[in-house]
Amino acid sequence: MLFFKKINAFQPASGPPPRTMFAFFRWALSGSWFVLWVAFFFSALAGILEVLTALLLGSLIDRAVDASPTNFFNNQLFFVIIFISFFIIIRPIAFGVASAANAVFVTPNINPLTLSRLHRWTMGQSVTFFDDDFAGRIAQKQMQTSRALTDVVTEIINVGAFSLASLFGSAILLTTIDPRMSWILVVWLVVYFLLIRAFLPRIRRQSASRAGARANVSGQVVDTITNIKTVKLFSHAKYEDQVALKSMEVFRKKAVSFGITSALFRLCLMTIAGTLPVLLIGGTAYLWVNGSASIGDIAASGAVAIRIAQMTGWVSFTLMTIYANIGEVEDGIKTLTPPHTLVNDKKAIPLSILAGEIKLNNVSFTYGQKANGLRDVSLNVKKGEKLGVVGASGAGKSTLVALLLRLYDTELGDIFIDGQDIKQVTQESLRRNISFVTQETAMFNRSARDNIFYGNPNATEKQLIAASKDAEAHDFIMELRDYEGRRGYEAFLGERGVRLSGGQRQRIAVARAILKNAPILILDEATSALDSEIEASIQVALHRAMEGKTVIAIAHRLSTISTMDRIIVLENGGIAEEGTHSTLLKKRGLYYKYWERQSGGFIGVQEAL
Ligand code: ADP
Repeated sequence: MLFFKKINAFQPASGPPPRTMFAFFRWALSGSWFVLWVAFFFSALAGILEVLTALLLGSLIDRAVDASPTNFFNNQLFFVIIFISFFIIIRPIAFGVASAANAVFVTPNINPLTLSRLHRWTMGQSVTFFDDDFAGRIAQKQMQTSRALTDVVTEIINVGAFSLASLFGSAILLTTIDPRMSWILVVWLVVYFLLIRAFLPRIRRQSASRAGARANVSGQVVDTITNIKTVKLFSHAKYEDQVALKSMEVFRKKAVSFGITSALFRLCLMTIAGTLPVLLIGGTAYLWVNGSASIGDIAASGAVAIRIAQMTGWVSFTLMTIYANIGEVEDGIKTLTPPHTLVNDKKAIPLSILAGEIKLNNVSFTYGQKANGLRDVSLNVKKGEKLGVVGASGAGKSTLVALLLRLYDTELGDIFIDGQDIKQVTQESLRRNISFVTQETAMFNRSARDNIFYGNPNATEKQLIAASKDAEAHDFIMELRDYEGRRGYEAFLGERGVRLSGGQRQRIAVARAILKNAPILILDEATSALDSEIEASIQVALHRAMEGKTVIAIAHRLSTISTMDRIIVLENGGIAEEGTHSTLLKKRGLYYKYWERQSGGFIGVQEAL
């Protein structure tokens, strides 16, 4: 059993997933072929033994016909021993090994092998890929494709190898009776396969579209559940129910048409299966009448015919499953294997940061549309400079940040960090050098410790505590207690950090950024929607985080960025104004308008001036 150790279920694939069926199977299964062939061999062996049962039965009858009943067991002792040991030792062992090979060694490894490869590939997709699809649908497709592919492999080994070997053995056995008998089998097989060929493409097509509909249902349901608070707030449960029902109805209809085709298919098959015992038993009986076959031959060919007829139902059912699964794999390939659109340049080297200077040269990015996004933005942020970015919603602030992080590639223009084009450095090194605290500070449903360590998994416990203290997060973390009674840094934060208040989430995010200690820090709306006391403590935390870094801070609350070295005002994707807080106020332009509105009137402006 040593050889089974050879499938490494998490071995990475070589290269991107191909987009055609056979090549995709080769890609998904590479590294496991040896084990698959061994399992195939054992299954085929079991199939051959199946034919031997018929041979033994025929031989027993012939011996019985020839011998006298009184001394039968004495004279045939050797045969009887073989007969018994075949049925209670050899056959069970062969079947046991064959099914163990499949159930223990093939199936449990092929699924994670394929899933891990697909998952890795999906993780490498650009943000655009995820923007354009439901998260639930993508997850469902990954699971579906790996499960379907595993089923195909398992069925081919379990049923394909077994039945092919059985058929082959049966043909040989029939040839020993009379070669003409095996011709009957061959002709019958041709008709059988023609029927399958007529049906299976339809089954495959319908199965693929059923799988697509099923994934849509998942996407819809997951989307609703993810946004359940919004659904409840707007009392839209009924509407969501309608949306879900609509997608379920599409799925139901596809399942019905699949069902109709498969029922029809099985009816035709069973009819064809029924003709085989008639032909083979009748044929041998005819030979016996003419003296060229024994009674044992009739029994043997009868046993073979009935076995094959039974197998026909079983095999056709399996073939249908295989084709249905191939349809599902096909559907998965369509969604999951597009080439990565945002890849490291072949000659990409790690970003080396000395100063942390950022430069945008005539950058445009409009999400592939005519308007929106950013248009022709040039900007220079010096080493250690603190730049504030303001602008109305939709002005392009988040787009600017996304481009800096290279979540998207610019459509026109280039971005440089310390003189290095960010398209020519590795994405990992770029993002390693930028800390990003977002408006929707994303938390994993893991412990507070794991969430903060996410900033730098190699940090020490002491650094973790220090960062949390700097971020004003330590005290409330010590008070945390989750539903399983874990406390402090061990407490889980709930899905997307729902157990924390907005201000607490932000402080954890700041602690994470402090621990990451990257030379460039980006803050996106880091202090929106907080009460003033918490905001004050976050301000303290942020100022600590900003020390010695090049900072780009986006905020709606102008008070939070009024102390910045420089402020730019974005409008409709372009820089409308630029300067310090006081020069911008003097200018009496857009910034002045925002400030006036926010500070509650003229007095605030006077004070600031
Ligand atoms: P801000 O952060 O200033 O509110 P954004 O940078 O998010 O603005 O958006 C700028 C413009 O780009 C908006 O008009 C928005 O509709 C558009 N936009 C943002 N994200 C996408 C996207 N994924 N696909 C298409 N358009 C987008």
